[in-house]
Amino acid sequence: MKKKLIIAIDGYSSCGKSTFARAIAKELNYIFIDSGAMYRAVTLYCMNRGFIGEGKLDIPGILRELQDINIEFVYNPDIDEYETFLNSGNVEKEIRGLEVTSHVSRISQIPEVRSRMVELQRQIGIFKGIVMDGRDIGTVVFPDADLKIFMTASVEIRAKRRFDELKSKGIKVDFEEIKRNIIVRDITDENRDISPLRRANDAIILDNSRMTVAEQMEWVHRIIKNKLNGS
Ligand code: C5P
Repeated sequence: MKKKLIIAIDGYSSCGKSTFARAIAKELNYIFIDSGAMYRAVTLYCMNRGFIGEGKLDIPGILRELQDINIEFVYNPDIDEYETFLNSGNVEKEIRGLEVTSHVSRISQIPEVRSRMVELQRQIGIFKGIVMDGRDIGTVVFPDADLKIFMTASVEIRAKRRFDELKSKGIKVDFEEIKRNIIVRDITDENRDISPLRRANDAIILDNSRMTVAEQMEWVHRIIKNKLNGS
């Protein structure tokens, strides 16, 4: 049987992790999991239930309902992509908006939320043949992943990419607000007590500030080939 890998892609916000991870998964015919979408979906649930808002965070309320939060990735043949579903509703567009984005770092700091997400992520990874992107995939979720990549790019470039992405989806945004949000998320993700964003010792660094997706694919192609051939 052909060898199947677990590929962990971690790094800063808006580095193009999901685009890169999705492209690798397509090429290898693997499952792609956007772990950030899971934290975003939990955040949306908390917003809808009034557990989080400006200056408000009701942790006991969140913990009471944590087991009621069901997240799935459902294939949409029309766009040939998986979309995020929260308790049977398609939330793919809503979870990318600025309101969810501005609250998600606070929700992802809650230890019980993290352990529930890690549990779900490991269940998905049980059969291998997956590419998962996030912040703690190579350090916590799959410390034994076959390949770990840590992505980074300059703040300016990341803000520009995120701005273009949201604009193309018809979401109205302000560039400076996006940039501020990225800086704040970097600080929060790097400094939280549990599973802070950091490079696993055995992760390969990819700074894609000046690379196209095609160039990144060319770069990773050789690495994956070596892994699949056992070197
Ligand atoms: O990757 P994305 O920007 O969509 O992730 C949204 C947020 O979810 C991050 O800012 C981070 O707070 C959280 N996250 C996390 N651990 C992961 C993936 C995302 O804490 N593995």
